[in-house]
Amino acid sequence: MEMQKSQEEKILKDLDKQGKVRDWRGKKMSSLDLAKVYEGIAKKIQPEYDMRGVHTRYRKVTKKIQRGEEMVDVTADEPMGLYDKDGKRVVNYEKRAGNMKFCGSCLEFAKIADMLKLIKANFCRIPLCPMCQWRKSMRTFFEVSKIMSVIGMRNPNYVPVFLTLTVKNCLIENLGDNLDSMFKGWNEFMKNKLRDIVKGWFRALEITYDGDEKITQQRYNKARKYYDERGIKVGDKNENYNTFHPHFHVIMLVERKYFKGKDYMYTKDWVQLWRKSARLDYDPVCDIRRTRTSTQKRKEVAEVAKYTYKDAEILSKKLSEEKKEAVVENLSGALHGRRLYAYGGIMKEIAAELKLNEDKADLVNVNDDAEINPSLATMIVTYNWNMGVSNYIFTKRKKVIENSENL
Ligand SMILES: [Zn+2]
Repeated sequence: MEMQKSQEEKILKDLDKQGKVRDWRGKKMSSLDLAKVYEGIAKKIQPEYDMRGVHTRYRKVTKKIQRGEEMVDVTADEPMGLYDKDGKRVVNYEKRAGNMKFCGSCLEFAKIADMLKLIKANFCRIPLCPMCQWRKSMRTFFEVSKIMSVIGMRNPNYVPVFLTLTVKNCLIENLGDNLDSMFKGWNEFMKNKLRDIVKGWFRALEITYDGDEKITQQRYNKARKYYDERGIKVGDKNENYNTFHPHFHVIMLVERKYFKGKDYMYTKDWVQLWRKSARLDYDPVCDIRRTRTSTQKRKEVAEVAKYTYKDAEILSKKLSEEKKEAVVENLSGALHGRRLYAYGGIMKEIAAELKLNEDKADLVNVNDDAEINPSLATMIVTYNWNMGVSNYIFTKRKKVIENSENL
């Protein structure tokens, strides 16, 4: 009994400012699950890779190293990745699985009063990693909120409008082509009329996956009218089963006078503009809203800064391993090299001014506590992921000497 209690006490408890537990364990478990899916893909794809003559490509790298008293040049082969015999780069699923397995396995926090502030961690940075996605979405939320508050002070006449641009669901193997036309469509969309109206924007891509084979009660309750109109009942076949639904979440800044001016656009105008820009042969669903209270605004920003995909959807226990592998493989391929988040106009300028550089993603300082000065810490505490316990367990502490310069 006593033993259990001390074990319990060693488990990581990281609370945010609102006193909510930060779900390190949940994210770590999801990353481990996804790593397993990557392992499965690696195994499944090996015969295909063999046939295509997939091999590791190396490049010569010269580094200066200390040898005795002097610095000498040493040339070594450094792996560049996997390529097939035609020179096309292919995904190294095995490596991804390995890296993702260790993502966030060791966390170092500065202890400031009762709060923990992350100061060091080993994140894998693989685009689909649930742990990394979680950190990234927190950072995006923090960034966008910060930019919006700067704009609120400098340009009180700019009002944010929240827009969702969708296209029809697509087969999982067609996601890449669909994203191509959506991204092209986006560039087209922001030209012409919107160039004058929109003073700044932020765009995020979200992709949901539909894994319901049949219409569930929960689904039906959410869109009763839609299903009733089509005579679809609970238990019927779900036409969208095993499809992706890609969409853009956008924040646009417009001048206050836009709402009363001749350029004002109704929902139907947004629909037609998006239809034309993305070259769709149907009227797409577009949602546009202006929020008035700061709580609503916060909610909308959180919506925009959400995950690119929901790990719970593609790691669902309902799905077979085979299905999970197909979904992850298509998702991973389609997202390769895409800008998942982007800024434009004044939002881009302020992001640059605040040095919020997307490419040099810092996944450690991501939230409200980024401003907490770690030099106030009295203690550095380390937690390691423990496979047996399936949780983060305290491993060591280091007292910080007062006014230490080392932090
Ligand atoms: Zn990761």
